[in-house]
Amino acid sequence: MTGLVVVSHSRALADAAVALAVEMVQGKDLTLAVAAGLDADTFGTDAVAIAEAIATADRGDGVVVLMDLGSAVLSADLALDLLEDPDQRDRVVLCPAPLVEGLVAAAVAAANGADRTEVAAEAVAGLAGKESQLGTSTLMEHEVPEPGIPDATATFTVTNPHGLHARPAARLVTEARESGAAVQIRNRTTNSAWVPASSLSRVATLGAHQNHELDVRASGPQARPAIDRILALAARAFDEDTAPAPAPPSPGPGTQPASPGIGTGPAWLPRQSTPDLPDVPSLGADRERQRLDQALNAVRAEIHHLRSTTPTAEAGIFDAHLLLLDDADLLDDARGRIADDTAAPQAWSAATARVADEFAALDDSYLQARAADVRAVADQVLRALIGATATPPTGTGVLIAPDLTPAEAAALDPATVNGIVLAAGSPTAHGAILARAKGIPAVVGVGPAALDVAPGTTVALDGRTGEVVFDPGPEVLADFRKRATDQTAQRRRALSTAARPATTPSGVTIRVGANLGSTADAQAAAANGADHAGLVRTEFLFLNRPSAPDVDEQEATYRAIAQALDGRRITLRTLDVGGDKPLPYIPTPPEQNPFLGRRGIRHSLANPTLLSDQLTAMVRTARDTPVSVMFPMISTLTELTAARTALDEAIARTGIGRPAGLEVGIMIEVPAAALKASTFAAHIDFASIGTNDLTQYAMAAERGNPSVATLSDALDPGVLRLIAATCQAAGNKFTVAVCGELAADEAAVPLLIALGVRELSVSPPSIPGVKEAVRSAPASNPDVLDLPDADAVRAALLQ
Ligand code: PEP
Ligand code: MG
Repeated sequence: MTGLVVVSHSRALADAAVALAVEMVQGKDLTLAVAAGLDADTFGTDAVAIAEAIATADRGDGVVVLMDLGSAVLSADLALDLLEDPDQRDRVVLCPAPLVEGLVAAAVAAANGADRTEVAAEAVAGLAGKESQLGTSTLMEHEVPEPGIPDATATFTVTNPHGLHARPAARLVTEARESGAAVQIRNRTTNSAWVPASSLSRVATLGAHQNHELDVRASGPQARPAIDRILALAARAFDEDTAPAPAPPSPGPGTQPASPGIGTGPAWLPRQSTPDLPDVPSLGADRERQRLDQALNAVRAEIHHLRSTTPTAEAGIFDAHLLLLDDADLLDDARGRIADDTAAPQAWSAATARVADEFAALDDSYLQARAADVRAVADQVLRALIGATATPPTGTGVLIAPDLTPAEAAALDPATVNGIVLAAGSPTAHGAILARAKGIPAVVGVGPAALDVAPGTTVALDGRTGEVVFDPGPEVLADFRKRATDQTAQRRRALSTAARPATTPSGVTIRVGANLGSTADAQAAAANGADHAGLVRTEFLFLNRPSAPDVDEQEATYRAIAQALDGRRITLRTLDVGGDKPLPYIPTPPEQNPFLGRRGIRHSLANPTLLSDQLTAMVRTARDTPVSVMFPMISTLTELTAARTALDEAIARTGIGRPAGLEVGIMIEVPAAALKASTFAAHIDFASIGTNDLTQYAMAAERGNPSVATLSDALDPGVLRLIAATCQAAGNKFTVAVCGELAADEAAVPLLIALGVRELSVSPPSIPGVKEAVRSAPASNPDVLDLPDADAVRAALLQ
């Protein structure tokens, strides 16, 4: 798909133009990046930002760059010189079209599959509609050749109250392009010339008002069906909802802030596409049937998990999906095809297509809509069968989704995603944690109404307060932009001292490290002044791929992380999968309560090869750079001993003895482990408290479940007492760190220090603020452990 880049002196101008263009493509995919303003409020253009936007928007088919005035053009020109790949440079068209009209025309053309030359031509012709309406045409007249005798013709009347304005015109263009015929159109009422119906800019010249009669003609083998499609579309008023617009939805009561920052932009609701079927023969009926059963099991486990993290009112959809996986008619059909020598993916695909088609053909609109459920489940099983991961969402604007898996969140690009609004979810779910790591503002638990927002609607959100406004008026939007400017200034101040150590006024130095999931995070950590990496969530190297990385690949990644941090200590946590991070290629049997099941160290000890490979890669890395190995979810000394034995074996395997800088620690996430922390003292150098899990287990409130998200608050005195107990057990025997999200709560930082915590690890963008909180920590803290609940603690800390 041809990508688009919008270059403007003003971020606000660019965002508004993008919102307009996105509305015209009516939910179709569009690859678009913005390089506008020096920040949200300062006018200017930046060649480096433009080059980055081009690289982001180019998915191989090239990009068309639309610019506003003067230096925007110079900067865009300069940006071409900054592109490292000469082939990419050749794929860029700097387009002289007017920004707004050109962008709208270009967006419609690009979303309908036009190549970059065609997209640029459409953009350049973007003024044609305006000129023809004002009768001031300076553009060349594009005569449309007579097609000889057209194969099909028809006439229809425009019923839309505002005529064939931009949105219905865009819909007409899409229909004409998809019809496979050469379609032309003219305004019979005004006796206009014929224009191609596939060009938005030319259709705009028709000046078609309500009750005008339009002629259409088409040629080619698809002429008749094409004309029929257009007549049907006209009869539906070009799918324009002519009823008064419904009030935009408002966020529900469970709304919670999840990642700080201000996000504004057009609503983007991604859709998942059907994976391609591989053309492979059957491996034999038994083997294929086994494959299908394994895939069905894996998907059952995924759906059970999703169901358990969804508010009860909305969870019914997952029950329907689970029933489909056990539907005898469907399974018999698929297995029958397998018995007839068809490979499992083809058999499953054919059987589910039959059921979906049967639903779609029914008269009842509710039952028709179930076809979409069948297709969704069919695709999910198909992905499990062929080892394909769900396509990571790529798009532009404010992402609106039911929830976000860690794998999906990991794939988001902060250059194009301005914000995240989730119908479900909670602030300590991994999706939200990743959003924070990427610095993408997010609000979660907004409720299902968020999913009814029309694509392209402007959305404004504040990830610090949890406010979300759909379709804000100009004053509200200006207020959000002002907040963005203030927050940017505050961040800049904290960033200027972030590289220095953080010492309290009473002289205690607290190491502030970073939580990471990738090398890019490590770079962000270094840029934000991280003293070390307090938590490398290695599982993110294992997601979004069909098989596990081998020892060499893991070692290379760990080394790259250490290098990005200039050799500062990195804390490599062994795989913490299970719970809300299933590994598609290591299917685990469905569990009723996955968070209480085989996750963390339990999963690793049950998959010894996976663990020994990982430890080998860690030990090899530790030869040249300080490494701390950390075991997650430790509940008993037996688990720790088994894990340490596996580590000793990995050391023996490398044959170089124990690396000097190698340290060993555990995560305290299980309440029992906190209360008996002294048990582990002789076997560890440090313990890092994972307050996200510790809180969910202590409060019996699942971290991803929005309906109990307010209970899952790490400031509850019960949780704080577990932290205090760990620090007390530690004394001088081992260091206590906190790497759960509580560490990034600036109001809680002085309390954690007072309890005895000496290291904090937070997402990279939070480091500067947390260091400031350490530097201004008061000498004494209110006594909060006897307070009744988290609200009372928070109030006391904020006094
Ligand atoms: C935690 O549980 O607090 C933690 C840091 O680990 P994760 O969020 O990856 O489960
Ligand atoms: Mg955890």
